[in-house]
Amino acid sequence: MKISDHVYTLPLSTTLGSGPTTLFVSLIVDDVQGATLVDTGVPGMKDKIEAALGEIGLGLSDIKRIIITHHDLDHIGSLPDIVEATGAQVLTSAGELPYVQGDLPGQKQPTPEMRAGMPPQMLAVFDNPPKARVDQVLQDGERLDIAGGVRVVYTPGHTVGHLSLFVEADGVVISGDALGSADGTLTLPWPQGTADMPEAVRSIGKLAQLPTRAVLAYHGGLVNENAAQQLQALAAQPSP
Ligand SMILES: [Zn+2]
Repeated sequence: MKISDHVYTLPLSTTLGSGPTTLFVSLIVDDVQGATLVDTGVPGMKDKIEAALGEIGLGLSDIKRIIITHHDLDHIGSLPDIVEATGAQVLTSAGELPYVQGDLPGQKQPTPEMRAGMPPQMLAVFDNPPKARVDQVLQDGERLDIAGGVRVVYTPGHTVGHLSLFVEADGVVISGDALGSADGTLTLPWPQGTADMPEAVRSIGKLAQLPTRAVLAYHGGLVNENAAQQLQALAAQPSP
């Protein structure tokens, strides 16, 4: 689904611990420099991603870069498979790098009670998470010269090194899990899954300073009505 001149979303349906859901993987398209995939879904989604690319006239070979917003398993799940299929470069923040590469265990681990209720396949993913070599560390404030300029905004809180992207020409924030959304309304990130909520709210304050026309949240999808005002309101509320 095209949401602006350079940004598409590839909605992927799956089932998480909370039940059936849609993951809004996104794609930044540059006619000359190829496509940049932002996050990769859960493990085993390569074929679904390829099918979603096909619907917009692209294929896996068009993906030149993969930007990872953070290392949660629903974001890095299919990273190794897509790297293998595309040879794409992998980019993330300095804070996320050791987790994406598998040098450190994931920041969020299931409790013994959660493990007891998990299917063996899911336990195996936690115990041996997907990983890939990071080719480029993205710095806070860095501007990537693709699609008319893509600004990197460090948005820690949900995880230690979470990053968001601002596609300048389109006024689109790709927020990963720095924000959620429901029916076109922005929300704070999922509280139980957010390591440091006060930090997450401060990060929303950074996003609230951008000239935003739309936000694409990984869980919940597109918010394009009063997006800047909604960001400012969330940033101003007392942290829960
Ligand atoms: Zn997530």
